[in-house]
Amino acid sequence: MRVGILALQGAFAEHAAVLEKLGAEHFEIRQRKDLEAPFDGLILPGGESTVMKKLLHDLGLLEPLAEKIQEGLPVFGTCAGLILLAKEIEGGSPCFGVMDIAVKRNAYGRQLGSFYVRESFHGIGMVPMTFIRGPYIASAGKDVEVLAEVDGNIVAARQGNLLVTAFHPELSEDLSIHRYFLQIIERRACQNA
Ligand code: GLN
Repeated sequence: MRVGILALQGAFAEHAAVLEKLGAEHFEIRQRKDLEAPFDGLILPGGESTVMKKLLHDLGLLEPLAEKIQEGLPVFGTCAGLILLAKEIEGGSPCFGVMDIAVKRNAYGRQLGSFYVRESFHGIGMVPMTFIRGPYIASAGKDVEVLAEVDGNIVAARQGNLLVTAFHPELSEDLSIHRYFLQIIERRACQNA
């Protein structure tokens, strides 16, 4: 199994460290030629979604990645990565626009822009959740499974092979959500075998 981590900007190194701990092969995606060798999963990290979207476009990565995602490549989007996958962005335009969710960016206001909670994650249990000027999912389509909520707002969800969290699991010691993502990749590999 090989997992690509979009490494244009933001918290990509932290995801690499988690995959390292889990013993999953990973590599950084910075330019088109990084997409030449096959890979089985993609992580879109947190950072600034507007900057990442521009860089994806300018570097010619948007189309080839969109194609792979459409073909069913498992993707884990955290925070800004969640925004990149959403079909609808309040006050903005979508990037990949593949996941049937509407998101509100910087959703917690200035005061509460960054905070930490422990909450329940469906199928895993209590997990630490670090929010940094994160979005939340204001609404989700019928094919979207809600995995976690904080104060009544959806903060983690899955639609087929797409997994998103509004918080940053890569900033905690808890490896369970990345493990969950690796299981999605493994399941797909079995289906394709
Ligand atoms: N506020 C950022 C955005 O809108 C997301 C923040 C993050 O990824 N920590 O892209």
